Amino acid sequence: MDPAKVLILNQTFEPFQVCSARRAVILLFAGKAERVEDTSRVFRSPSTSFVLPSVIRLHRFVRRPVQPTIAFNKKNILKRDAHTCQYCGRNGGERMTIDHVIPKSLGGRTVWENVVSACRTCNLKKGNKPLAEAGMHLLRRPTKPLSAFYLGILVHAAQRCEGWSKYLPLEADAHAMMGGR
Ligand SMILES: [Zn+2]
Repeated sequence: MDPAKVLILNQTFEPFQVCSARRAVILLFAGKAERVEDTSRVFRSPSTSFVLPSVIRLHRFVRRPVQPTIAFNKKNILKRDAHTCQYCGRNGGERMTIDHVIPKSLGGRTVWENVVSACRTCNLKKGNKPLAEAGMHLLRRPTKPLSAFYLGILVHAAQRCEGWSKYLPLEADAHAMMGGR
């Protein structure tokens, strides 16, 4: 079956989990969930054919366990930024560097809100200058990911988000939704 991922919404329409298309179809056939968004792809077997879902919603509310805080490290910073240079938008895979938006030499701290993924070219170009002086700007303001759960969902969405985006809260809204953690 299709390896694409499906977004599962809780009964309340909040993002709940990301699962395989196979699991989503099992949930639909078992009557545990309903289709919310479809993909443009159709699964065909000799006996049946159906449109693969992109987003499904659980019929019953499921309480999600409290999410541990996400570790602050290079791997997770790159993950948050989908391995994309936050200055030029280039995807540099594993060869990305981490840049301090406000340079350390100017008092910039090493925190989620001040570090971004940057390609080598942009990192060199920016050097120890503040953004304005370097004549560069950020694709988006860096924030602390809410949890490993959200980071995972955002990474999937960045890669392939057929129909997902309207169910994913903006970072700020999600923060309030999850009790401001
Ligand atoms: Zn760049």
